[in-house]
Amino acid sequence: MRHTGKNVIVTGGASGLGESIVRKLVAEGANVVIADVDADNANALITELGDTASFSQFDVSNEKAWDTLMAEFVEKFGVLHALVNNAGIAPPADMYMDFAVWRKVMSIDLDGVFLGTRAAFKVMQDQDVRGSIINMSSVMAYVGHFNTPAYSASKAGVIGLTKAAVSFASEHNMNIRINTIHPGTHATPILMDALPLLPEGFEQEELSRHPVGHFGDPVGVAATVSFLLDDEAEFFQGAEIVIDGGRLSVNR
Ligand code: NAD
Repeated sequence: MRHTGKNVIVTGGASGLGESIVRKLVAEGANVVIADVDADNANALITELGDTASFSQFDVSNEKAWDTLMAEFVEKFGVLHALVNNAGIAPPADMYMDFAVWRKVMSIDLDGVFLGTRAAFKVMQDQDVRGSIINMSSVMAYVGHFNTPAYSASKAGVIGLTKAAVSFASEHNMNIRINTIHPGTHATPILMDALPLLPEGFEQEELSRHPVGHFGDPVGVAATVSFLLDDEAEFFQGAEIVIDGGRLSVNR
C-alpha cells in the first residue's frame, strides 16, 4: 500500500497500459482519476475497482478541459500528488499522410502532454508535497518506421518537453519530478486495432525485433510507474526509462 493517501490522475486510463497503471495504483492505495475519452471502458473499470477509482470524461487535446479537470480534482481531493500523461494514439500513417492526421497525432500525443504537464505544474507549484509527473513516450522516439513519422516525432517531442520541464522546475525551486517511460511493443488495443491497416506479417516482424521473444506485459510498465511515484525514486529526474525486451539493443 505504498501509495495510500496519494491522489493521481491517469490520462488514457481506460485501456491498455493506462488500465494496468490504474489497477496497480488503486491496489497500492491511491485515489485514481481516469481521464479518458472512452466512457464505456472507464465506467466498467471503476465499477470493478470501487470507490478509490473515479472517471472524468475528457480529451487531453482540449486546453479548456484541463482547466475543468484540475479545478474539479483540487476541489475533490485538495492535493495532486501525481499525473501520468499516458493517453495516446498511433494510427498507421506514412510520410504522405494528410496534414490533418499529422495534426491529430500531435494534438493528442504531444500537445496533450504539454497541456497536462503545464496544468499539473500550476497545481503542484503551490503544494507542500512533492509532485511527480510521468510522460509516456515510446521506443519510437529513438527509432523510426515508415508508418510512424508523426508518432515518432511526437514521442521524441515528449523527451524534449520533459527535459525542459525539469529545468523549469529547478529554475523555480519547484518540488516536482518529471520522467519519461519508453515501452517497446505491448499487445494493447493501440496495436491490435492498427494491425488490419498494416502490411501482412507486421506482427511477426515486430515480434522478431524484441530479443526476449515476446511482446511486453503491461504490468511491467505499471510497476515502473508505481516505483517512479514513490519517494524511493526521489533521484529520478528527467530519466528516460526504456522497457522494451531488448528492442533498442539489437540491430534487426
Ligand atoms: P490503448 O489504445 O490501449 O489506450 C489508449 C487510451 O488513451 C485509451 O483508453 C483511449 O481512449 C485514450 N485516449 C485516446 N485519445 C485520447 C484523448 N484525446 N484524450 C483522452 N484519452 C484518450 O493504448 P496503450 O497501448 O495503452 O497506450 C498508452 C500509451 O502508451 C500511449 O501514449 C502509447 O503511445 C504508449 N505506448 C504504447 C505502446 C504499446 O505497444 N502498446 C508502446 C509504446 C508506447
